Amino acid sequence: MSWPTPISKHTKDVIMSKKYEIIIAGAGIIGLAVAYEYLKRGKRSILILEKERDRGQHASGRNSGVLHAGIYYTKDSLKARFCRTGSEKLYQYAIDRKIPVLRNGKVIVAWDETSARQIDILYQRSIENGVKVEIISKQDLKKLEPCAGTYDRALYSPNTAVIDSKGVLDALHQDLNGGGIEIRFDAEVLRIDADTKTLKTRSGDFEYEYLINAAGLYADKIAHQMQVGKQYRILPFKGCYRKIRKETAALFNGSVYPVPDLGMPFLGVHITKNIEGGLYVGPSAMPALGRENYKGFDSIRPDELPRILWDLAGLSVRNEQNFLGLVRSEISRYPLRGMMPHIRRLAPGLTEADFLPGFAKVGIRAQLFDAKNRRLVMDFLVEQGRHSTHILNAVSPGFTSSFAFAEWLLNEKLPA
Ligand SMILES: Cc1cc2nc3c(=O)[nH]c(=O)nc-3n(C[C@H](O)[C@H](O)[C@H](O)COP(=O)(O)OP(=O)(O)OC[C@H]3O[C@@H](n4cnc5c(N)ncnc54)[C@H](O)[C@@H]3O)c2cc1C
Repeated sequence: MSWPTPISKHTKDVIMSKKYEIIIAGAGIIGLAVAYEYLKRGKRSILILEKERDRGQHASGRNSGVLHAGIYYTKDSLKARFCRTGSEKLYQYAIDRKIPVLRNGKVIVAWDETSARQIDILYQRSIENGVKVEIISKQDLKKLEPCAGTYDRALYSPNTAVIDSKGVLDALHQDLNGGGIEIRFDAEVLRIDADTKTLKTRSGDFEYEYLINAAGLYADKIAHQMQVGKQYRILPFKGCYRKIRKETAALFNGSVYPVPDLGMPFLGVHITKNIEGGLYVGPSAMPALGRENYKGFDSIRPDELPRILWDLAGLSVRNEQNFLGLVRSEISRYPLRGMMPHIRRLAPGLTEADFLPGFAKVGIRAQLFDAKNRRLVMDFLVEQGRHSTHILNAVSPGFTSSFAFAEWLLNEKLPA
């Protein structure tokens, strides 16, 4: 796939004076899916501004690559509303555009009677959400996923798929460029003037009729500039993955997930066989000390760290979502040795020797924190401002949901 040609100084100058009907901040899956939906409806006066030089530098290029079926979410949530149909739409798009995608299924397992009861809750939610699932016995689990273990029953989702996430981003870029929609890289939105409907970026100033904020980890910052969603702030959570050796990977067919803590917006460390057959274990859900703190002490900003620590303290004091339990368990399983008891709940035969050393990949969730109620926000959140819409908390299953989410946004929230 070809990458966008660098933009010359001259081109920048020409574009600077241009006005667009729609400007989208952020070329992750959400920004691209919204632009694609507009393109399908015939609109072309759209500019997508992307902070990075390349696509997929944040969540959309650093996720598990799972097309979720829609099992976990309560019926009244936006996640439930978009996940199943989003998965079907993205699956079809992948087939049409010849992007690698595979319905290799997933099993959700339990380790004691209490966790097994969660299987029944998930089964009920799946039925309410119109998702095809089956409760299977321990014996049937062995036939489907010989290395997985469970207490006495498991939940099987045959339609869960894996997809080449970057392949989706590449194809969307091609389709949007082909349709005449402009995507500008290295164009971070720095300042917005809602009165004049102009915005300043690293590569020039632009005018808009309507602004769509799909800036992922920075969506709150853009929203706050426009006096929107002031009670919400992004609290970044790091997700590290470990990789399993090839010979062991060959023994797995699809994904193995634990029953999650349904009060938390994370699905728990799971085993995923990706589209290339690589087997990953992760992601962790460790509070990160910076929005882009992918490694060590990188990208920890002195102007943001106190705020992040303050918000984490706010969560700890109230501890309503058992946040302290999460932190304790994340710290204990940071080293592989500490992680092994959790992994053995999924696949009892795995040992430390099955893992390649170190972390294989890292992603950061743009998790929204509700500072007023001191809670992590569970659902997607969309806030409207003056000539603008702000997509906040586009966390998992945001990739899966993106096409259905975009369709709904255009039907309900955005100008035609
Ligand atoms: C570890 C992990 C695993 C996940 N696994 C799955 C999964 O298996 N399945 C699933 O469905 N979902 C998964 N998700 C969730 C999914 O990846 C996200 O919901 C989705 O990628 C969010 O897309 P986005 O476009 O909102 O964000 P992003 O991909 O972060 O895109 C936002 C873009 O905005 C740009 N930007 C930021 N600020 C500015 C600015 N000021 N100006 C211009 N551009 C800006 C950024 O550079 C970025 O490219 C996972 C997420 C993580 C972190």
